[in-house]
Amino acid sequence: MKRGYLPFPDYAMPWIYALQKMPTKYLVTFVYKKSLGKAECLGRCELALRKPRHFVVSVEAGHGPFVERDTLVHEVAHAMAYGHADHGPAWGIAFARAYKAVEASKPYPGDSFIDVAALSRRLVRGALRG
Ligand SMILES: [Zn+2]
Repeated sequence: MKRGYLPFPDYAMPWIYALQKMPTKYLVTFVYKKSLGKAECLGRCELALRKPRHFVVSVEAGHGPFVERDTLVHEVAHAMAYGHADHGPAWGIAFARAYKAVEASKPYPGDSFIDVAALSRRLVRGALRG
């Protein structure tokens, strides 16, 4: 493994598996690095020009599962919305799709995702019971 590159933690595996299935013009490879070299830069999505062309989604390590998960989703949305404005409508739709796919992936124990549907069902049942 190249210097500064780390293996992804186990908790990220279901998310990466889900995100690999997202529609993108080129294949996406995922990189987990000790540092991306810039403060306030948690992730990056780049198009590698050498053949075969592919996107490289990099995530900076050490920010905890939830920040890293949201960073993965954010960067994969850039790959999905390639050719469109950064953080514009196409990117926003891609982000929602990728977020949904990650949300549906096998949860990590202690995951902060709130199952809103299940929660409201429980609340409704509780209310009916009085
Ligand atoms: Zn961005």
